[in-house]
Amino acid sequence: MKYEWSMFCFKQKENGGTLIKNTLTGSVVYMSNQMLQEIDDWLGAQDLANPDCVDDLTGKNGMLVSVNIDELSVYKKIITRARNGKDAFFTLHLLPTMKCQLQCPYCFENGINKKSSMSKQILFQSVRWLSRYLEVNTNISALRLVFFGGEPLLRKNIIRLALPLFSNLAKKHRKKFFCEIITNGELLDKKIAGFLFQHNWKRAQITLDGDKDAHNQRRFGKNNRPTFNKIIENMRMILDLNFIEKVDVRINFDLLNADSIPALINFLAKLGYQDRMDLTFAFVNLTVTKRCSSGECKIKTTQDSENSIVSKNYLRFCQIAKTHGFSVPEEMVAGPLCIATIKHSVVIQPDGNLQKCFCSVGRPKYNFGHVLQLPVAYAKDRRFEMFEKRTRKCKEKKCPYLPICGGGCIWDSVCSSGKSGLEKPFCQKSLLSSVNQGLLRLNYGN
Ligand code: SF4
Ligand code: SF4
Repeated sequence: MKYEWSMFCFKQKENGGTLIKNTLTGSVVYMSNQMLQEIDDWLGAQDLANPDCVDDLTGKNGMLVSVNIDELSVYKKIITRARNGKDAFFTLHLLPTMKCQLQCPYCFENGINKKSSMSKQILFQSVRWLSRYLEVNTNISALRLVFFGGEPLLRKNIIRLALPLFSNLAKKHRKKFFCEIITNGELLDKKIAGFLFQHNWKRAQITLDGDKDAHNQRRFGKNNRPTFNKIIENMRMILDLNFIEKVDVRINFDLLNADSIPALINFLAKLGYQDRMDLTFAFVNLTVTKRCSSGECKIKTTQDSENSIVSKNYLRFCQIAKTHGFSVPEEMVAGPLCIATIKHSVVIQPDGNLQKCFCSVGRPKYNFGHVLQLPVAYAKDRRFEMFEKRTRKCKEKKCPYLPICGGGCIWDSVCSSGKSGLEKPFCQKSLLSSVNQGLLRLNYGN
């Protein structure tokens, strides 16, 4: 059998050798320059005896693959299986309200109607809708209920009603059940945290925008009410009382607040919850120039020069986080699957309209159904199913990042190119490449 390097491998020089990662299998190897040269020589003349390490590089590790294997077909099979979800979760993002008590200037929901709130009738109808969905789609193994908004904790009454209703529904259909919340954290008090805990609370995502001063300048309430101290107090409370095992701290950064992020990491480290906080660093694209409630916004695609600053900052924050004992991600992904592209997933807006992507909420043209129309099949919106079209060029180019990107975020593509973005990739290859090479070094280098 003849071998070649997998198309999904990327390399990073490190300490007199090379780190190699396969994005499809996740395998990582370190090779001295001499060893790598031996392999490359052998690949060029495979009638010679193979070097010892060849066996370790083939098989499950997938670093070297048979020249007869169509790797793109293997990739497609894996993605299709994951998307269609045999024994899948059903992910329900429930939006009790579009209102929010904060006034963050960069909010992606700015420009839409933020006044709508869910009525009890819509909530009850959502339960009926899901009950029917579970009857039609029998392969679902668990219900994952995620509260999102607006700020979901502005409607604690809906959360209190929804949790027993959906967990009982899951029980009735013999499905596992767990809940999550994406919140700004200011209203997360002991009572509601205890209630979430009683319903198998698995995840809380809370956003911080830098150290106390930077955060309060960006994530403030009415009359510039500061929010940092309250959010930290609430985060500590849910961890100290063991309402939840871990908190996901999403740290937004852009070119304006980047220099305040190291101070925030230092601050969080001093709190001493390193093994109970997962930090994620998210770049906020400040080049959003226009949003409108009926259509797309216009995001200027992040340029390579900007990408280089973003990746340097991202890796700088990861390095500092690692030094302070926080875990750092194995890789930065931009896809290929998300709640908008997997089969069994839906966003229910306060008025009962259904969407696939949580970033398009409040834009009626992205509605694809309503909880009053009981489902007859899975939650399908064709516009988020153009995977083949979106990745055609990526495949032609044999992009090694395909398994962790798959054409990138559809919504970013729509924001960047308008309606045609649904069919196009949103390519951030220079960013993915520099960040993932840096993470490889950070996780596996010396
Ligand atoms: S399309 Fe983009 S924004 Fe929407 S859910 Fe997927 S990754 Fe998120
Ligand atoms: S969008 Fe760009 S980075 Fe992503 S898979 Fe396609 S070519 Fe690669």
